[in-house]
Amino acid sequence: MDIHEYQAKEVLSNFGVEIPAGALAYSPEQAAYRAREMGGDKWIVKAQVHAGGRGKAGGVKLCENENEIQEACEGMFGRKLVTHQTGPEGKGIYRIYVEAAVPIDREIYLGFVLDRTSQRIMIVASAEGGMEIEDISENRPESIVRSTVEPAVGLQDFQAREIAFKLSIEPGLVQSMVRTLQGCYRAFVELDATMVEINPLVVTGDNRILALDAKMTFDDNALFRHPQISELRDKSQEDPRESRAADRGLSYVGLDGNIGCIVNGAGLAMATMDTIKLAGGEPANFLDIGGGATPERVAKAFRLVLSDKNVQAVLVNIFAGINRCDWVAEGVVQALKEVQVDVPVIVRLAGTNVEEGQKILAKSGLPIIRATTLMEAAERSVSAWQSDNSENKAV
Ligand code: ADP
Ligand code: MG
Repeated sequence: MDIHEYQAKEVLSNFGVEIPAGALAYSPEQAAYRAREMGGDKWIVKAQVHAGGRGKAGGVKLCENENEIQEACEGMFGRKLVTHQTGPEGKGIYRIYVEAAVPIDREIYLGFVLDRTSQRIMIVASAEGGMEIEDISENRPESIVRSTVEPAVGLQDFQAREIAFKLSIEPGLVQSMVRTLQGCYRAFVELDATMVEINPLVVTGDNRILALDAKMTFDDNALFRHPQISELRDKSQEDPRESRAADRGLSYVGLDGNIGCIVNGAGLAMATMDTIKLAGGEPANFLDIGGGATPERVAKAFRLVLSDKNVQAVLVNIFAGINRCDWVAEGVVQALKEVQVDVPVIVRLAGTNVEEGQKILAKSGLPIIRATTLMEAAERSVSAWQSDNSENKAV
């Protein structure tokens, strides 16, 4: 789960990371009022969307008086901000953060990620802040400092100091840099984050180290033990298909094609999507019903896939180990009886109780296209979708 910049800043500041003064607003008037309350003579108005690259896309504006703040906000509220990270549809702006503008001496990149190779939290930093990490690694790879943390002892002060030295932080600010690194590390571990990014972390003209931007991502599977974090979820920033699925305990990834996929297991989902492409089709989604799925769960998954208006055919591909083909078949039949389905449905079952599953499908009297192998299932899905589509066009 992602959270907004202002939320990440608040979380990190509770762990000792310094941030500029700032306040949230839900309307242009409120933004101006909050700036007045805060004081100062220069403010940065920042669109709160779950994406980076806002600066270049017009979502970060410097304002010098209340009128400018109101105007900047009027141009943002209710609009969609399109950055290189949002996709062409953009993300809606419903909250704006007004922050004191600070004099910047230096911009630093700082990120905490999970490094799968070393199975450790890795700190990634660069003295070339302000640029995206992808651009830094392409243009200035030698500027990147990497350091992995030994989990048994956690981030040690000497290790944090070493990072500060490599970034050429002046001696008087090393302690403050260590506090920032320690704060991010503790927040990462204690809150089950999967990513913390501060870009830029700046050294100000008055010699402070401040986080001017902040991004945090959390492990969805650990959210249950952090109610104060799960409360920060903002569904307006999510793909509605994915949030509907998450609300139902299903794992769903929306894609751009038109063949809906209901699968068990991430590996099988990948293989199914590859095979659909090989057969000349495009998957509309990735839906994993997981192990031990009851007929009700399968029916739920089915309704969810069908509610996506891009879906013009549904392929159910189940390799049942812990799952049972008869339960899956019952779920498919249950869903098809309840929901008005006018797209072709292709089912391929293999594994536990496959004969019972096939019987249930056959006895249902529903127009279900059956397939034995994955290749056959993918080909039938693509050709069923193509003929269904050309019929529709003819009408
Ligand atoms: P994004 O990464 O989405 O473009 P940032 O929060 O990083 O958004 O803002 C873009 C740029 O705007 C920063 O790199 C920084 O140069 C400038 N900026 C952001 N916040 C402030 C601030 N409070 N004071 C001065 N400059 C700022
Ligand atoms: Mg940034």
